[in-house]
Amino acid sequence: MHIYSKEIELKIKEYKKTTKAIFSLVEKYDKVAIFTHLSPDFDAFGSQFGLGVYLRDHYPEKDIKIIGQSLPLYNGELYPEMDEVKDEWFNDDFLAIIVDTATLDRVSDNRYEKANHLIKIDHHPNVDPYGDICFVDVTSVAVAEMIAVMLLADGRTISKDVASYLFSGIVGDSGRFKYASTTSLTFGIAEILTSLGIDLNYIYNRLYIQNLDDLRCIGYILNNFKITKNGFAYYVMDEATLQELNITAERAKENVNVFADIRGIKVWAAITERTDTNEWRVSIRSAGIPINEFAQKWRGGGHVQASGASLLNREEIDVFVKEMDEYIG
Ligand code: AMP
Repeated sequence: MHIYSKEIELKIKEYKKTTKAIFSLVEKYDKVAIFTHLSPDFDAFGSQFGLGVYLRDHYPEKDIKIIGQSLPLYNGELYPEMDEVKDEWFNDDFLAIIVDTATLDRVSDNRYEKANHLIKIDHHPNVDPYGDICFVDVTSVAVAEMIAVMLLADGRTISKDVASYLFSGIVGDSGRFKYASTTSLTFGIAEILTSLGIDLNYIYNRLYIQNLDDLRCIGYILNNFKITKNGFAYYVMDEATLQELNITAERAKENVNVFADIRGIKVWAAITERTDTNEWRVSIRSAGIPINEFAQKWRGGGHVQASGASLLNREEIDVFVKEMDEYIG
């Protein structure tokens, strides 16, 4: 019997009933598939592998698949490879668990649609309350934090690997314990995970590793960014620039936080061309002004201080920038 802080005990109590319901559903199925959103981030991977590997540890007879887009810098390094799953697998009965994904159109693999039961585990505003079990805690900094509490509520052994995955998700979505949604509970959970023997140096080295091309990308950003009168800083990278820099749009937008902590910049964004989806993806970050509702008006959404949006052409970029400047003015 572990003794946790009062705060953690209360959170465990709050999650107990839903955790039980989730594990009861897991126990009914021989096959479980865990999905997440397009353009996965550390919380997506950390939650998927944290929960998935825990289930594999405790239900070795079940077939647990962890499904989604892979990122070469992380899969095979900090996380295992994603499972390649043939369509036939989904013809049998299975349970789908979707983590860190507010709306079903953002799930990176639509084969969840064939599931007999669906579970949502998320911390974004619940704009699309899907799932037979819809477990959403907007107060949680990361879905990995929610899953950590769920596993504590479940009470079985949490392996060092599971702890590492969950810790990485918490670090990722809290911006290394910095964003406003980081709470004393976050530190309490991090302490518990750390005490399970995880290698902090190993995790941080792999989470924040960059290539020389990233450095050149930062050079481009510093030379080409724009800032509006009221403090909206942004950079635009079209396909030709991305190719010239030898960098993917996904990586290019990861550098958006070069503008964090700069006096005079209230909101900042990366605008990157996506030729595959024929759009300009906007990654928006804020020092305080809420940006999620603004993002919703531009085919997006997200968190109060970190949201995404989608623009159709260059003309829309100009309108977006102008309206953002007026909004924050
Ligand atoms: P990103 O800028 O892509 O790193 O996304 C930041 C946050 O906004 C993440 O929590 C995403 O889940 C969310 N987000 C990004 N794009 C969208 C979108 N089109 N619709 C809803 N939420 C989004």
